[in-house]
Amino acid sequence: MQSAGQYLKQNYFYLRDIRKSLALLFYLICIPLLCSCGPWNLPAYGYIDKDDPPLKSTPMLMPENAPSIPQGFKPVLKNDYDFEIAGHEGVDIKAKKYTPVIAAASGTVIDSSWGPFYGHQIIILHDTKQGRFFVQSYYWHLSKRLLQVGDEVKRGQQIGTLGSTGLLASYPHLHFEVRVSEIKDQTYYSPVNPHKYWTNGAGKISCYENGKDYSTGGFSISYPVFCK
Ligand SMILES: [Zn+2]
Repeated sequence: MQSAGQYLKQNYFYLRDIRKSLALLFYLICIPLLCSCGPWNLPAYGYIDKDDPPLKSTPMLMPENAPSIPQGFKPVLKNDYDFEIAGHEGVDIKAKKYTPVIAAASGTVIDSSWGPFYGHQIIILHDTKQGRFFVQSYYWHLSKRLLQVGDEVKRGQQIGTLGSTGLLASYPHLHFEVRVSEIKDQTYYSPVNPHKYWTNGAGKISCYENGKDYSTGGFSISYPVFCK
């Protein structure tokens, strides 16, 4: 019988290699993942993704009083070998921790949960369709969730507070996504560029206005934080 000590001694180089490989794996997987939501990913401010033809030539209008967007939407693309290239399937809105986060449009809360990567999350299924699509909005990294699954929510109503919960948040921000599906009960809704759906038109970030009538004109979204 070989003792554990002898085994370790004989296989020292082999085990060291495994340790090295695991470390390499960590660097290859976790660091790009952490970087994808970091504040150092800055060039996206004031830009609309170039890979999205309908918005290619649309200038983005950012109201002066709106909290900024340090990172915009980048679709996940597949390379020639069918590997997915990391994208960013929403927009990051930077503001102070505990800033109120508000519903971008009216609907029903279909998820209010915590996860290791996105932290505290709320998902709203909206009442009105966008053309043939049902629409959901996602709110990640919240410091506090104020709503539960099944709650009805009105546009502009506070749903939680902004934070930096979850491994993908390295500074306080709201990761906001818009997702669509032709089938309402579909589990997976596809992320789309939120800049297409603002109340004032594509590329025109629209602050929520208290008292404004949003009932006409089909589906559109308001900025999910108040403008100052
Ligand atoms: Zn993000």
